[in-house]
Amino acid sequence: MDLKRFRVVAARKKGKLTAFLNKLDDVVPEDMPKLVAEADASMWKEVDCMACANCCKTMTPTFRRSDITRISAHLGMKPKEFVNKWLEKEEDGDWVNKQQPCQFLVDNKCSIYEVRPKDCAEFPHHNKKPFDLYNDTFIQNLHRCPATFTLVDRLMKKVEKEYEW
Ligand code: SF4
Ligand code: SF4
Repeated sequence: MDLKRFRVVAARKKGKLTAFLNKLDDVVPEDMPKLVAEADASMWKEVDCMACANCCKTMTPTFRRSDITRISAHLGMKPKEFVNKWLEKEEDGDWVNKQQPCQFLVDNKCSIYEVRPKDCAEFPHHNKKPFDLYNDTFIQNLHRCPATFTLVDRLMKKVEKEYEW
């Protein structure tokens, strides 16, 4: 994955894709779930997370209490010790990584994959329903996640071509 090139292309198209997602807030094609499922399936045939890991390099997951309990036990640490070592509290009370890339990213892979935070397991959130409820999240991730960028780009092309839009 050529992330440098991705960043250039994403910066160029971000405005257009953001406008599309914003419009989806008001106008949702009737068969949106089917459109999303088809575009998502075709996107995953091309985008390889193992060759990317840009989310782990440039973003932080939110660690829920259950994540902290599970991961610290996996690492043989006390939850408090784990929090003090790796996390900080945001203004809204969420626990997030102190550092980026994520401390658990080793050789471009998640070293705690089996017990990773729920937020990581659900990323990039394309399966959330309804899809358009997460437009703000997708807008934030357009220039960070090649999977989201590609999905939204395909959706936009399909909708603009086949629907009154
Ligand atoms: S816990 Fe694993 S999947 Fe989550 S950000 Fe860190 S390296 Fe990536
Ligand atoms: S979810 Fe997105 S940013 Fe993360 S590894 Fe996959 S394509 Fe890259």
